[in-house]
Amino acid sequence: MLTEQAELYRGLNYPWGRQVNPEPGTPMAVADGVYWVRFPMPMSLDHINLWLLEDEDGWTVVDTCLNLPNARELWEQLFSGFMQNKPIQRVICTHMHPDHVGLAGWLTERFDCELLMSREEFLMCRALVADTGREAPQAALRFYRAAGWTPEQIETYQKRFGEFGRAVSTLPDSYRRLQDGETLRINGRYWQVVVGSGHSPEHAALYCPALKLLISGDQVLPRITPNVSVWPSEPEGDPLREWLLSSARIRELLPDDLLVLPAHEAPFHGLHVRLTQLIETHERDLDLLYDHLSEPRRAIDCFGVLFNREISSGLLGMATGETLAHLNCLRGRRRVIRERDDAGVDWYRQQAESSAFDQIKRPAKFIE
Ligand SMILES: [Zn+2]
Ligand SMILES: [Zn+2]
Repeated sequence: MLTEQAELYRGLNYPWGRQVNPEPGTPMAVADGVYWVRFPMPMSLDHINLWLLEDEDGWTVVDTCLNLPNARELWEQLFSGFMQNKPIQRVICTHMHPDHVGLAGWLTERFDCELLMSREEFLMCRALVADTGREAPQAALRFYRAAGWTPEQIETYQKRFGEFGRAVSTLPDSYRRLQDGETLRINGRYWQVVVGSGHSPEHAALYCPALKLLISGDQVLPRITPNVSVWPSEPEGDPLREWLLSSARIRELLPDDLLVLPAHEAPFHGLHVRLTQLIETHERDLDLLYDHLSEPRRAIDCFGVLFNREISSGLLGMATGETLAHLNCLRGRRRVIRERDDAGVDWYRQQAESSAFDQIKRPAKFIE
């Protein structure tokens, strides 16, 4: 379905160009029975792409936007307009972030239909929502102090704690679990669930072989790099390792000739190229970070290596999480060690080449 606006840019082919911006209330057909609708969002990432899959007597929607009055209003316009008052039969959420899951509870209640998500995303989302109304836990304050945050930055975090739950309408009490490799039948066609990890714990993308489509959620994005972060609930996590493994697995598993429908930015061809670019970007960042750690440094001292812009207070949590993801990955590879000083601040530095391996007794070999 290539058109006149098709644009080739950095190895990716955008059939409708990179800047295509469909009117929020006017979904655009991207394949037979598959429509793209863009919802605006009031943040630096200023939109999300949602997907409407038409069936004979209803709709399946993939992702839902934030729990905001404007977004609910836009849905109302779609129900009575484009969607012709046909009911929503199921709501699928690729993962638990508020821009994706925000209105899932509202939609499933209104249409008395099922929510489909992977189990880890559903449970993690409910756990995070339950934080709203609580005070920021001591473990989280310790975590950010260890990264090098100032007392003022910690205070701002405490004030903002619980924002996640406010952006998400109450989730249903039960859901239907999506599992890697299973298939859903929508409008007579199969869609295979493809699970990835690292950006979120059990992200579900949807692959339709008949239409050569991949609804990629945030697992694969064309321009920006999906955020991969360590959070206070699991300080020793190594999500970057998981993300790199998932990306390599998806590249093995899926063919290259798919139209990728990402949750942010424009649809594109070039899945394998994009996955390779993303993997290489992270590997390069890991090398740069390693070089930077010839002297002991705190997490916040590493922002300049990983980000090419000033980190505003609104981005501090994500930048810290992303930096820790790289540091934990280097620790997992035994290239970097971490030491905590008396003030509870963590310092990272290169690990001497030999020390880890000297301890390991080599097994005897059968053939020398
Ligand atoms: Zn996300
Ligand atoms: Zn997103």
